[in-house]
Amino acid sequence: MQATLTFLGSGTSMGVPTLGCACEVCASAVPRDADTPPASPRNRRTRPSVLVAWEDRNVVIDTGPDFHAQAIREGLRRVDAVLYTHGHADHVLGMDDLRPLSFHSQPSLPLFADDPTADTLERIFDYTFRKQQRYATSARVEIHRMPSTPGAHVDLFGARFQRIPVTHGRDTVTGWRFGSAAYLTDLNDIPAESLPLLTGLDLLILDALRRQPHPTHSTLDNSIALVEKIQPRRAFFTHMSHDLDHESTNAILPPHIRLAYDGLKLEFDIAPEAA
Ligand SMILES: [Zn+2]
Ligand SMILES: [Zn+2]
Ligand SMILES: [Zn+2]
Repeated sequence: MQATLTFLGSGTSMGVPTLGCACEVCASAVPRDADTPPASPRNRRTRPSVLVAWEDRNVVIDTGPDFHAQAIREGLRRVDAVLYTHGHADHVLGMDDLRPLSFHSQPSLPLFADDPTADTLERIFDYTFRKQQRYATSARVEIHRMPSTPGAHVDLFGARFQRIPVTHGRDTVTGWRFGSAAYLTDLNDIPAESLPLLTGLDLLILDALRRQPHPTHSTLDNSIALVEKIQPRRAFFTHMSHDLDHESTNAILPPHIRLAYDGLKLEFDIAPEAA
């Protein structure tokens, strides 16, 4: 079953351009004036999220602070489920923008999250999730808590979404595998027990923040090494900071590894065809 993955956002938590920064990459991402388009539009990176679409179904992974603008840019008019990776602001703060998309969901729009992420969503959006005196026009959403066991999964509209535990600093957060693709954002390492869940991939999407080491994110070199270890057919890097210029970084990467960019669409197989 063919599916399309769209990068709603490919940037790090601060986005690119980074507020207050005048570096070359940040400057290249925005129009210099009303008549001069950005020198490198692919350096404009909103907060990280992907849309997975197949057979009229739309599943979104994470709703960051740019979700509203991303949904308008992509003409997203319906969401059938949202999967969360973890509770950091760049991945959850747009949850409230699901409101108009959720009002037609019967009985509610399902959100899938591990326990710490579910706790964070309930805390930030208390008025949405509290049992008493719920805000009247809150998003019509319901959290489904994912078990923490490796390989835990949820079946949605003929496709299976499997939880892949990944290491994000001191936390273990959630990556997702669906058919021949895996979306592993926000990690600095992949624990050994998750590697068997990542065999036979066509498409691997990985965190690659920058070149210098970072306590909670992968570097360009580390992500290249992870691709060598996991051996997908192709890999795309995301959650990138202003350290990585799109064109010049792509030029030094092996051909099967590319930097993602906002709006990039990739076709892949999400499930075997029903007999
Ligand atoms: Zn992040
Ligand atoms: Zn910058
Ligand atoms: Zn994070």
